[in-house]
Amino acid sequence: MNDYSDMITRVSDHWKRVFGKKVYKLNFHGDFTCPNLDGTIGSEGCVYCNMKALEPLKDIETDSGIEDHMNYLKERNGAEAFIAYFQDYSSTYPAHGVKNRLKYLKELYRNAVSHPGIVGISVSTRPDAITKAELDILKSLDTDVTIELGLQTINEEDLEWIGRGHTVKQFSSAVELVSSYRFETVAHIILGLPNETDAGIFELAQFLNSSKIRGLKIHQLMILKNSRLEKLYKEGKATEILSEIEYFRRLGILVSHLKKDIVIHRLYADAPKKDLIEPLWCANKTGLQDRIFKYFKENKIKQGYRIYSFSSGKQP
Ligand code: SF4
Repeated sequence: MNDYSDMITRVSDHWKRVFGKKVYKLNFHGDFTCPNLDGTIGSEGCVYCNMKALEPLKDIETDSGIEDHMNYLKERNGAEAFIAYFQDYSSTYPAHGVKNRLKYLKELYRNAVSHPGIVGISVSTRPDAITKAELDILKSLDTDVTIELGLQTINEEDLEWIGRGHTVKQFSSAVELVSSYRFETVAHIILGLPNETDAGIFELAQFLNSSKIRGLKIHQLMILKNSRLEKLYKEGKATEILSEIEYFRRLGILVSHLKKDIVIHRLYADAPKKDLIEPLWCANKTGLQDRIFKYFKENKIKQGYRIYSFSSGKQP
């Protein structure tokens, strides 16, 4: 097995240090929606979002289903412990049919962390969908807590293009709030947005380096079926989608300017083949990670190795 631990700060190593075990995430579902879909902030959603078209996730897991999944990860990957992961929609934002939303969240989260083998909880949400009320509930669980927050970009024009419905300032305020609870924050960002430049990626790295985030998930822009971006794509109005090598190049700029104590949770996104329109190079995950690290090796890219410098137009 390839070992890339000298190139980036890997989440698997981070969890091993924190928990002393080989830890995997386990997906849990709830009855959630998103303020950018339900009309509170917007009703169209982010340009790449296809969640509105998905079937409602009604099948809250059964205990035996969770056990089966745990056993599968133990046998296949040698998992020794698990983090309960909530990532549907904005996972701090229950759907409108939920009567007492805080009570619902409390029971849902508490039930998830009560399973033997669960050592923490990770909740993915928007910066404008998390307040002290949800954080107090998570604190009361008395377990390791991580909050994943969508930032996507610090370019306000691109935030507008996405239709995110929040600002960079709101992201920074949410990170401050989460940090005041001593929870870890993981930022989500996207490479390949229309107004992105090499200098802009460098600025993004500097922004992340100076924030209180502890982790980062990096995704390429994808065109998914049933998203607004699919419609733009069909009308010939979508932004250019990055080739694999161009994505690697931009990823290299970001990673090489990112300080080493930011844990990298993801270097690329994947989507079920049935939902993916572009880019097709990410349709087959097998080998993609190896190709990224091959590119890093050939171009002498390591996390943080160019943290104080930036030269536009040159290879990172
Ligand atoms: S914040 Fe997430 S769930 Fe909400 S519209 Fe954007 S991508 Fe969809």
